[in-house]
Amino acid sequence: MNARRPALDIAIAGGGMVGAACALALARRGFAVALLEAREPPPWHVDEPEDLRVIALAPSSTRLLDELGVWGGIKTARVSPYARMRVWDAASGAELAFDPAREGYAQLGWIVENKLIARRLWDALEAVGVRRMCPAHVESFAQRDDRVVLELGDGEMLSAALLVIADGAGSRLREQAGIAVRGRDYQQRAVVAHVASERAHGHTAWQRFTHEGPIALLPLADGRSSIVWSLPESRAREVLALDDAAFCEAAGVASDFRLGRVTATTPRASFPLRLQVAERLASGRCLLIGDTAHAVHPLAGQGANLGLRDVAELAGVLGAAREAGRDFTAAHVLQRYARRRRSAGALDAWGIDAIERMFAWQSPAWAALRGVGMRAVNAMGPLKHRLSSHAQGSA
Ligand SMILES: Cc1cc2nc3c(=O)[nH]c(=O)nc-3n(C[C@H](O)[C@H](O)[C@H](O)COP(=O)(O)OP(=O)(O)OC[C@H]3O[C@@H](n4cnc5c(N)ncnc54)[C@H](O)[C@@H]3O)c2cc1C
Repeated sequence: MNARRPALDIAIAGGGMVGAACALALARRGFAVALLEAREPPPWHVDEPEDLRVIALAPSSTRLLDELGVWGGIKTARVSPYARMRVWDAASGAELAFDPAREGYAQLGWIVENKLIARRLWDALEAVGVRRMCPAHVESFAQRDDRVVLELGDGEMLSAALLVIADGAGSRLREQAGIAVRGRDYQQRAVVAHVASERAHGHTAWQRFTHEGPIALLPLADGRSSIVWSLPESRAREVLALDDAAFCEAAGVASDFRLGRVTATTPRASFPLRLQVAERLASGRCLLIGDTAHAVHPLAGQGANLGLRDVAELAGVLGAAREAGRDFTAAHVLQRYARRRRSAGALDAWGIDAIERMFAWQSPAWAALRGVGMRAVNAMGPLKHRLSSHAQGSA
């Protein structure tokens, strides 16, 4: 019976941040893993300009990266801790202030370049025996009784006992697994840039909700801030077309000059925004993780953090089954992962969507009510503590 099992325990389609972390976590648990990625992550070097896309990593994520042996190499490269967060509403002026030091934490998280995390994970794969296949585009797959058979773009076939699908929000493989998604297109784009400002960021993550969408200023290690500015598509196109001076002026106005005038900027990039929640995370021998399972608005800085929580859960569930000598591909084992992460991920995704809607409504009466609500939450220590703990992945 064993002789007929596929040589590979797990194939992972998609080697973005979440797929690569998953490959590392499963290989460290003793599974035979292949990671198939269409495009190798670009190299990261300290002398090169920073990646315009940054991630606010929650402590739950840095803990996982530490367990995977890569956090040390990230932390000493180029990261910025953020010790405080200020969120305020342009319409009502109400503000939420998170100061973890007062609650006994050192910081809320770390701002890290996307490329740095992806590359450090990628570089760590070989040492734990992950079969890194790149460039490898998974075209399709077929589920058999005891395996999944993958067909690659170059015609090569590959068999594994399980397939983990991590090909991102626009996943085609999720569709092939017969899993539908719910959600909506925000018809917004996140415009990103790194900017210098008159005042120091004070290792604080600033976010102002305006009538057009939220603008966040996240602290970078060199004293600049990363702007993540969510705007309706037509407005985003206008902002992207501004010259540097006009962009600096517009960003200063949108952030209410909280860090003074914006004095310099990098070129801009932008990303489309959508909410997408998969209706289930397992189908036969296929499991979904990361943005394939749940893509969320960046206003709460949670997308990658949710994906890394999927990884921790999946490695825990499959690893425990294997260590107990049970079949890690058994339907009840796969369902345990799928149930836990489907409900937690969906709750977060719809919760973030509710925040987006709450700030999108601009009637004066609603804005006044929102202001009262925000001031009340700000005054309620235990509730604020709970919100903050949840974002950090500890509640
Ligand atoms: C502007 C912005 C700001 C954000 N800020 C934050 C933040 O502060 N904190 C946070 O936690 N999250 C944040 N996010 C979300 C975060 O970037 C994503 O959740 C995360 O990058 C998703 O990673 P992933 O590995 O699941 O998917 P992806 O990064 O999309 O990776 C998918 C991979 O699959 C590969 N692939 C696709 N199809 C195939 C195939 N058929 N075969 C092989 N390979 C394939 C692709 O090449 C890609 O490498 C932000 C997102 C945006 C847009």
